[in-house]
Amino acid sequence: MKGNSAQGEAGAFLKSLGFPSIRLHGSRDHFDFTHENRRILVIGPMGSGKTEFSAGVWRDAKVALRKSGKIAESTTKEGADRRKVFFVRSQLDAGRFPDYPEDALAYRGGYERCGQGIARIRDSFDLEQVIADNPEYGTWVIDEASFYDERLAYVTAREAERRGLIFVYPTLVLNFRREIFNSTARLLLETSTDVTTLTAYCEHSDCLTDSLYTYRYYTVDDRECPALYFDPLIVIGGDRDKKDPREPDYCTRCDHHHWLPGKEYTYFTLKPLGESAARGNAEPLERELHLLKSDPRKSALYTSLKEAHMDRDDPQPVCMNALSVPCLAEKALLYLFVEQNLVSLSQLRLLTDRLKLDREYLSGRLRDNGREGRLD
Ligand SMILES: [Zn+2]
Repeated sequence: MKGNSAQGEAGAFLKSLGFPSIRLHGSRDHFDFTHENRRILVIGPMGSGKTEFSAGVWRDAKVALRKSGKIAESTTKEGADRRKVFFVRSQLDAGRFPDYPEDALAYRGGYERCGQGIARIRDSFDLEQVIADNPEYGTWVIDEASFYDERLAYVTAREAERRGLIFVYPTLVLNFRREIFNSTARLLLETSTDVTTLTAYCEHSDCLTDSLYTYRYYTVDDRECPALYFDPLIVIGGDRDKKDPREPDYCTRCDHHHWLPGKEYTYFTLKPLGESAARGNAEPLERELHLLKSDPRKSALYTSLKEAHMDRDDPQPVCMNALSVPCLAEKALLYLFVEQNLVSLSQLRLLTDRLKLDREYLSGRLRDNGREGRLD
């Protein structure tokens, strides 16, 4: 069956996170409305058909609703019929499919109209309200559930236990570093009863393997430049200008074509430089940042990438392209400030001044990652 190797990979991956007892499903089964109290995580990279999966649940429900009262008994608890499907979307993507009706569940290649059974929320508190306002709905599909606050995992688990509700979460769980996206994704994994994995073809032109991973890259002078491990965790797309080498692009890649240079450098060199700065000695960090900005080939990053990707039997020159991406020093500094809390705000400001770093880039990424964006 197509997808077996990626399913195996997904199973091994989930097991490595400590979820050995979770039930893994293929993507073709019709939806089961009879078993109550389930939280179904539908994970897959972009383009793997997560929204089409949701539309499939909706179509199956239409068939199930035409069955006799005997079926209704097996799908209803406390007035909530699990054949009645409600879709929950984020208020943030309200502008994503402007050409479709407001009640449309749109996916690549089509859409379903959901009538009353669709709402937009901002957070888990909104979700609680929508559930309370619509007690007859038994199945709840929450699109991109990882993007909400952690509390959502507990709100849904509690409602599922009380009234037998089924929750379906089509969502990304891994970021471009192949790590759990955030703490909400981790809690959803922990509190799910079922996982369905969807895959997409690897988008590398030499490859036709099923793949699971989201790959972030930049385009500089028409060359593919993989994002470094310490690239900012969240980059909110601006005008989506693919030619701007400061704006990342994403695609789906298999294990073999998912390049992520600089992980060893991050832990072996960059983080210790940050630790030294936290103890009051920012000089070595300043020296490395200066090289990253003015002459990356003299930096410790260059040495590390060359060792890891070129001095080997099967060299990966594409990984060296990561050095051509602008704002290397800015990214390194942001990593230490935003994610590691090793550099203080006053050190950030001082280094930005002394090294004449790109303030616009720094402020933008600080805002994207929920930090105060002012540097002066
Ligand atoms: Zn591939």
